[in-house]
Amino acid sequence: MYLEVNELTVDFHTEDGVVHAVDGLSFGIERGTTLGIVGESGSGKSVTNLAVLGLHNPETAKISGSIMFDGQQLLGAPRSTMEKLRGNKIAMIFQDPLTSLSPYHTVGAQIAEVYRKHRGVSKSVARDRAIEMLDRVGIPQPKIRVDDYPHQFSGGMRQRAMIAMALVCDPGLLIADEPTTALDVTVQAQILDLLRELQEQTGTAIILITHDLGVVAQTAHDVLVMYAGRAVERGTMPEVLREPRHPYTWGLLGSMPTLNRPVDLPLHPVRGTPPSLINVPSGCPFHPRCDYMKLLGPEVCKGERPELAPHRGHGDACYLSPSQKAELRARPAEET
Ligand code: SF4
Ligand code: MG
Repeated sequence: MYLEVNELTVDFHTEDGVVHAVDGLSFGIERGTTLGIVGESGSGKSVTNLAVLGLHNPETAKISGSIMFDGQQLLGAPRSTMEKLRGNKIAMIFQDPLTSLSPYHTVGAQIAEVYRKHRGVSKSVARDRAIEMLDRVGIPQPKIRVDDYPHQFSGGMRQRAMIAMALVCDPGLLIADEPTTALDVTVQAQILDLLRELQEQTGTAIILITHDLGVVAQTAHDVLVMYAGRAVERGTMPEVLREPRHPYTWGLLGSMPTLNRPVDLPLHPVRGTPPSLINVPSGCPFHPRCDYMKLLGPEVCKGERPELAPHRGHGDACYLSPSQKAELRARPAEET
């Protein structure tokens, strides 16, 4: 595995108590592939990836487990090591480019700066590289637009510029956190196409974080569904779309507009809201929102926490039997 996260746990100490943001999460990603991490806000997706990037404040976040990247342990690595990796071998893009791009410098200068910092090249070499990157991400007239300020770019172009900045050092791993959420549907599809194209050219591994299963359905090879800081389902994208196993995954699929739904299943959205991460529900953390607990009885679903099983391949963390899951998937929502 290029990146292998094992039993990652992230707790935040707050005035209200300990926030269990991520609890025993494991996943891996190979070079040249995209892993979609899906869940509602507060499910621990971003917290997980900030841990990979070494961006948590050690005074408030207590992190344990293991994060192996290209043979190197990142958890507990010195700050200087992480600073060398970030923007260089591990890059990131976020939802809103305006928060990551400075309004005071040209787009080209900001891309060139990242290249200079990690490669120590001259200003003119870095500028040429910035132009080359703008061209690769599909900015028209890159030799002219390189001198534009971020506000002179449209939202879609700014996100392209962010991708150019993220990929300027040929990173092995790109973490994209809700990269298309702020964009309209057409531009969103273009940005996802661009990421796929660039991945084919470079072999970069991508972690795509999103609340929208539709986004990963189009883009990801593998998917990890997170709920309350835990993985509740994992598999290849075709496996999870063809045969989603966890009631929460059914709910995510049910929340998608029918037209975009990759599977034709009689699914309905999840009711209620995500749980408090200070008082995580006992047993299966999804039980307060699950319509199927009555099939097993509360003593089962509220008892022991279900683990992700099997250990490898397509797995989920729910006590329903495979035949119960198959039957429920095929049954109209009203009848359950
Ligand atoms: Fe629902 Fe119980 Fe399965 Fe949790 S273990 S998802 S509460 S049926
Ligand atoms: Mg987030």
